Amino acid sequence: MALDDIFLQKFGYIERGPLNAINIDPLQRGGILTDEARRALVQWGDGYSVCDFCSGVLDKIKKPPIHDFVHGALPEFLGTDEVRVTNGARESKFAVMHSMTVEGDFVVLDQIAHYTSYVAAQRARLNIRTVPNSGNPYYKTEPEGYATAIEEVIRESGKPPALALLTYPDGNYGNLADAKKVASTCHEYDVPLLLNGAYSVGRMPINAKELGADFIVGSGHKSMAASGPVGVLGVTEEYADIVFKKSPTHNVKEIELLGCTARGATIMTMIASFPTVVKRTRNWDNEVADARWFSEKLEGMGLIQIGDRPHNHDLMFFEAPVLFEISQRVKKGRYFLYKDLKARNIHGIKAGLTKFFKLSTFGVGRDDLKVVVDAFDEIIRKYE
Ligand SMILES: *Cc1c(COP(=O)(O)O)cnc(C)c1O
Repeated sequence: MALDDIFLQKFGYIERGPLNAINIDPLQRGGILTDEARRALVQWGDGYSVCDFCSGVLDKIKKPPIHDFVHGALPEFLGTDEVRVTNGARESKFAVMHSMTVEGDFVVLDQIAHYTSYVAAQRARLNIRTVPNSGNPYYKTEPEGYATAIEEVIRESGKPPALALLTYPDGNYGNLADAKKVASTCHEYDVPLLLNGAYSVGRMPINAKELGADFIVGSGHKSMAASGPVGVLGVTEEYADIVFKKSPTHNVKEIELLGCTARGATIMTMIASFPTVVKRTRNWDNEVADARWFSEKLEGMGLIQIGDRPHNHDLMFFEAPVLFEISQRVKKGRYFLYKDLKARNIHGIKAGLTKFFKLSTFGVGRDDLKVVVDAFDEIIRKYE
């Protein structure tokens, strides 16, 4: 048998549920491609497809219009001076951490920071100090916590941390901390702030300058309707020369970006979706209203929404004692919820979870959200 036959027999063309289901997976909601991006994916799918007219620097390519995107549209969209497209939010964070610090420096993270923030700091050989949150049920991160953490670092190491990071919102509860206050608190100690906008850039209006952030990162496949891995990194003028330092041997190549980043279909899908993404951020108030409406409906059935209340983001975390109780006594056990939702063409809550789970209402729309609400109602009644 030929290799391609073996490969296809083993892996097949796996039919993807999410394409025709109502998808409430937080990870996937904001990364669903626009029609334009889907076309771009095919058109630019060949390896190194964007390099036809490249003279050595990705963001200077005029055709396709990567230059105008990276140096015009994106800085305005993010409210920052300099932008680069990277291979993901984590790559953006690592580039900042690595260039802004030396081994052994401290970085301050909100305790509910994404694992990729921890791992990026570890890869950059940094010491991590965390800002605790208020714990169950709100998990609120207070700006004063940053002052406390920074002062602890100063006491212990004799100097302020090299960098602070705020996850905005965090990836578990969808909490939006007071970023402006966190930024001004950090700046009182001359500590620059990195805003991790993996769940905000491309979903909601966010402007680094207005919030006072020195760095902002976003994720194309998480929130910008792009086929990843692809991300964005915004840097204020003040730190641009540090983060985007060029190689002494290859003088147009930026070291932290390893000379080049999204060199093909990934950046083209981001560009293709961008007009739609800009438009959808202007619909944010409606998204928040949908999220609150949905949360209220589920709470009416005995579920409890953890985190900010009222909620300000589409990413929501629920505690569901009523579903957990059912899982304890039905034949399908803890898989009942996944299976019963799947039977109603709803995808996105991890198989096996009943007691705690997160979901997203982003871009689902009231009609389909009603279908989801009705499904929960039916499922709970069915096992009463
Ligand atoms: C998904 C996520 C990331 C990782 O984004 P990548 O672009 O895949 O690196 C980082 N931070 C948060 C809060 C996330 O939710």
